[in-house]
Amino acid sequence: MVHDLNGFDGVKAGGQARLRVENATICYEKRTISEALSVEIRDGTFTAIIGPNGCGKSTLLRSLARVLRPSVGEVVLDGKDISSYRSKEVARRLGLLPQSSLAPDGIRVADLVARGRAPYQSLFQQWRKSDEDAVSVALEATGLKSLSDRLVDELSGGQRQRVWVAMLLAQDTPIMLLDEPTTFLDIAHQYELMELFRDFHDRGKTIVAVLHDLNQAARYADQLIVMREGEVVTSGEPADVITPDLMERVFGLRCLVIPDPVTHTPSVVPLDPRNPRSPG
Ligand code: ADP
Ligand code: MG
Repeated sequence: MVHDLNGFDGVKAGGQARLRVENATICYEKRTISEALSVEIRDGTFTAIIGPNGCGKSTLLRSLARVLRPSVGEVVLDGKDISSYRSKEVARRLGLLPQSSLAPDGIRVADLVARGRAPYQSLFQQWRKSDEDAVSVALEATGLKSLSDRLVDELSGGQRQRVWVAMLLAQDTPIMLLDEPTTFLDIAHQYELMELFRDFHDRGKTIVAVLHDLNQAARYADQLIVMREGEVVTSGEPADVITPDLMERVFGLRCLVIPDPVTHTPSVVPLDPRNPRSPG
């Protein structure tokens, strides 16, 4: 497998490394998912992690969020071993939107979003104006103001996903880790949410998203990390990374890669396996 580490030479978009996985072995119980895994996320970048089902994308994201600790190697957050931080300190620097979350029964939108403020509270430091403001900004940015008193259970899938995003936004972290944030949404709501992440990115947040839709990944991310079987196959800018050869190697898909007619970013069009010579 080719290990192309060109993305890590420091000439790419973005500033200093905010998050780094260094030579990590990542396991569940006795099952090893990744070995000698190294990944770097630079400040201010929008990184998409792509790869086939089960290749270890969520596992990597959980390691970046300290939900999972590597058994060998380390994860470095802002220059320090992530395991050396207090939990609240990690939660003020990075937030994770997991692949699926269950809201507590009977909770209202504004109350769930308010839970994003937990890292700022303590026994002595209760709810403050800054917490109220952060929740208000998050509800506004996600278009949930008018739904703030509604029960989360009673919302549509798209609205509910926005509530989780709002909770993450209220957490007000410079780094956002998103695991398949648009899965199960219709196409319009997918793009609406991706635009919202792009706005967050424009305002300086560092974003790492696991995405299934490669065309979306190429549109919104400035860096791609391509994984297969627990390894990083390659990484870099979408235009350099997405090629027919890579698609065949990683996904086993024969395809054309053409410029997206709207954004000119690479766009993947599968060939017809019944008529492999088309379009000639
Ligand atoms: P992806 O997000 O790329 O689809 P995951 O990171 O979720 O893949 O999973 C990588 C591998 O780890 C898969 O083989 C999956 O079955 C396994 N795995 C995921 N979560 C667990 C877990 N909690 N315990 C054991 N194995 C797991
Ligand atoms: Mg996953």
